[in-house]
Amino acid sequence: MSKAIISSLYSSDVFTMACRQFDQAADAISLPEAIRDRTKYPRRCLAVSLPVRRLDGSVTVFEGYRVQHNLSTGPSKGGIRFHQDVTIGEVAALAMWMSWKCSLVGLPYGGAKGGVIVDPKQLSEGELEHLSRRYMQEMVNFLGPHTDVPAPDVGTNEKIMGWMMDTYSTHVGHLSPAVVTGKPIALGGSQGRREATGAGVAYLIKKYLADMKIPVNKATAVIQGFGNVGSETALALEAYGAKIIAISDYTGGVYNAKGINIKKALAYIAYAKTLKDFDGAEPISNEKLLELKCTVLVPAALERVITEKNAKKLQCRLLAEAANGPTTNAADKIIEDRGDIELIPDVLCNSGGVIVSYFEWLQNLSSFYWSRDEVMQKLYVMLDRAKESVDAQKRKFKFSRRLAALTLGIGRVAEAKAARGLFP
Ligand code: NAD
Repeated sequence: MSKAIISSLYSSDVFTMACRQFDQAADAISLPEAIRDRTKYPRRCLAVSLPVRRLDGSVTVFEGYRVQHNLSTGPSKGGIRFHQDVTIGEVAALAMWMSWKCSLVGLPYGGAKGGVIVDPKQLSEGELEHLSRRYMQEMVNFLGPHTDVPAPDVGTNEKIMGWMMDTYSTHVGHLSPAVVTGKPIALGGSQGRREATGAGVAYLIKKYLADMKIPVNKATAVIQGFGNVGSETALALEAYGAKIIAISDYTGGVYNAKGINIKKALAYIAYAKTLKDFDGAEPISNEKLLELKCTVLVPAALERVITEKNAKKLQCRLLAEAANGPTTNAADKIIEDRGDIELIPDVLCNSGGVIVSYFEWLQNLSSFYWSRDEVMQKLYVMLDRAKESVDAQKRKFKFSRRLAALTLGIGRVAEAKAARGLFP
């Protein structure tokens, strides 16, 4: 009989939500008690203080975290989030989901995540660089190409990954591109990595719409979040012929029933920094946007936006979870009971990002670089395989698609842990 003695360290709604998902999946596959708790809880974490000199000469100390959930199946892998609402519990939940995702799609990785409590929009470019480098400096002994490999997430990007890689390389005394993925191409980044997550989301949407006998060029899409993932999903869906009728960022959304020109919206945001006052559409709140009638709803911002309050009001046919953890446990139940919405769970839906991060890591370790076509072709093969395995598991056990994906991911991690013994 296993029994966890766990502190309140990770206590938070989002960690509780990830734990509930785990418990449901573990029950569904009758995961032996002896392996449950060590599969469920993070292996280790590091919290750091990050002093940064500000433009006015003062010093601000930021707090940062890295949670390594699982290292039994390879180096851990997961993004670093810069956001004012980061908590260590959120980072732990995101690290758990990374473990299940990597295992589900068959990558030789465990799961991890990092975060810093900061609104990066409030920092100058120089301050952001100091913060990013200081974070990596504090993590040097905790990370590495064969230990733990970060990538971008909310509030971080290629440039930040480049600074972090440089800091790590300076410390170890030689160029070490494989320590971080999602880098600029000039520093060993992979072709296709920037668009990988969104392109993967759009590819899976197209595949599921085909299963539902809905032509993608007849579909309408609503996308919450217009950062890396949301905007790349919009571009790829638009290229497939879908009509994007609403998009949003942290300031709110914009809606146009006739369709939004995504390239125009991107050009606008490059200059205005937000979608506010974009004149190709009318304003709509982030809450109302989720309830719009559409073929596909794509939450691509933060966790827990689809709740028991709005789950009944969704008017989409397909819910594609581009964000991690956008649907609460209660909302999940409502959607399942409704039975009229197909769901692509996060661990499958946004896995294109970590798949191409894996390709980047392989290219860095072998110093042999692939063309964009090779990257995208290999990405789609891996997504097809993951989709087929999830749908086969769904059919075989009559699970929801989320439960199918989670049981596959969790089952494989638990099997590896059991085979290795108590230490890893
Ligand atoms: P990003 O920082 O590039 O973009 C985030 C977007 O969400 C921005 O448009 C921001 O304005 C918007 N946003 C922030 N708060 C919001 C709010 N309260 N309401 C509505 N919109 C809000 O981040 P990203 O990399 O695109 O990540 C988005 C989601 O995708 C996250 O859940 C992340 O964990 C997940 N994800 C990212 C990747 C990746 O490769 N970047 C891979 C897998 C999953």
